[in-house]
Amino acid sequence: MSEKSQIGVTGLAVMGANLARNIGRNGWSVAVHNRSPEKTRHFMAEYASEADFTGTESSEEFVEALARPRKIIIMVKAGAPVDGVIEELAPLLDDGDILIDAGNSHFPDTKRRTAELEERGLRFLGVGVSGGEEGALLGPSIMPGGTREAYAEVEEIFTKIAAQVDGTPCCTFVGPDGAGHYVKMVHNGIEYADIQLITEAYDLMRNVAGLTVPEIAKTFEEWNEGDLESFLIEITAKVLAKQDPQGDGPLIDVIVDQAEQKGTGRWTSEDALELGVPLTAITEAVFARALSSLKDERTAASKILAGPEPAKTEDRRELLDDIQHALYASKVVAYAQGFQQMAAASEKEGWDLDLGAMATIWRGGCIIRARFLDRIKEAYDDGEVVNLLTVPYFRDAVASGDAAWRRVINAAVDQGVAVPAFTSSLAYYDGYRREHGPAGLIQGLRDYFGAHTYRRTDAEGSYHVRWPQDGAEVRTDA
Ligand code: NAP
Repeated sequence: MSEKSQIGVTGLAVMGANLARNIGRNGWSVAVHNRSPEKTRHFMAEYASEADFTGTESSEEFVEALARPRKIIIMVKAGAPVDGVIEELAPLLDDGDILIDAGNSHFPDTKRRTAELEERGLRFLGVGVSGGEEGALLGPSIMPGGTREAYAEVEEIFTKIAAQVDGTPCCTFVGPDGAGHYVKMVHNGIEYADIQLITEAYDLMRNVAGLTVPEIAKTFEEWNEGDLESFLIEITAKVLAKQDPQGDGPLIDVIVDQAEQKGTGRWTSEDALELGVPLTAITEAVFARALSSLKDERTAASKILAGPEPAKTEDRRELLDDIQHALYASKVVAYAQGFQQMAAASEKEGWDLDLGAMATIWRGGCIIRARFLDRIKEAYDDGEVVNLLTVPYFRDAVASGDAAWRRVINAAVDQGVAVPAFTSSLAYYDGYRREHGPAGLIQGLRDYFGAHTYRRTDAEGSYHVRWPQDGAEVRTDA
């Protein structure tokens, strides 16, 4: 065999094939492999001329084709297939070789795999990759987790193939074991919230402000010139502008209104519940997809349940500016919550995440890439951030849109248009900015029915009232 390849990629569906091509075009020699050899043959037939690729059909041949220490990117369906591939490859590898799982694995799996493989003398990196098909080919955002010394072996490749923004690669070492996949998971959760907020803005423009679909497409295009500039706003304008290839009118009107999900949003919410972090925007986005999927029930309920109907035809263009402000303010809340979650996870896991660096590597290549992330990066560059909402730039942006945010939500509620992510973001904001909330009553009730005790505002210690007996207050920790 000719000279050994510098890196290997196994799993040649869209993501793996494009990542391999990206690495090859950037000058590294790549051995490629796929469970079903037809995909490898197809890859070689299509792309062999692009770069120094070696097609291999068995795991043995694949491993044999690689220079040591071997570096193998696994880009297969997340879950059991990753364990299957690891089990197939690990016995063929030598001490110090590096397996790199670049799919959307759940971070607890990554933590487990890291420990198991290190035990066997191998090194393991759990790497989040975002950007879809095009990003993988032209420059994704890359979130590597594992040991720094294992990362050092692939750093040059990863930083070169990543998207570049202002000369900075959208790739940096994230932290130990599951940290890279954790940050990718939160990225996806934020993507859910972003998409839900955009969808609610569309609903409001169409059903409350009375705009036509082409007018809404144009509005998103205009918004993409300002503070909301982002990949998702840009493609929203394109999706809405698309005409139905099979008929008249906008394509959006013939797309079934049932949103699907692969699980990363749910994982983000589940983890937030574990951590006790209020992650309302992302979680509402997950629930909104679940509600959308109940199509048959919704169809039946629409004939039974009463409530206001959206005016639809009423022209209320004056609401447009308000919707833009409401979208921006809700987006600030969604990101603030996502960053709070990463801070809490970092603390719990001892990952020491650099949150400003996470904002930096999300500025390009990934699905949530946006002008907005520059502002988050700056906030972290300027010092300690307790919550992004309290950073002067975001504090002022939300304050200036506050009245508009409330007008939009009032209009939506009046007209019976559900905007759960807008509404819950405002509720979080109002709850967060309030020194004295009503939770004392929760504690009072808990003490009444379960003797769970409460703390007083004017004294140290825990207290309980003997409610059913003599109603006397007793200190329980004295
Ligand atoms: P995919 O549809 O998730 O998976 C297909 C690939 O997995 C094929 O190469 C398939 O091999 C292989 N595979 C499935 N089960 C296997 C098993 N038991 N053993 C060995 N190989 C197995 O592919 P994808 O869309 O390219 O995504 C790859 C990974 O990247 C996933 O974790 C995905 O979540 C993540 N990701 C995807 C995107 C995206 O936009 N698609 C974006 C970011 C991250 P065969 O050809 O033999 O079936």
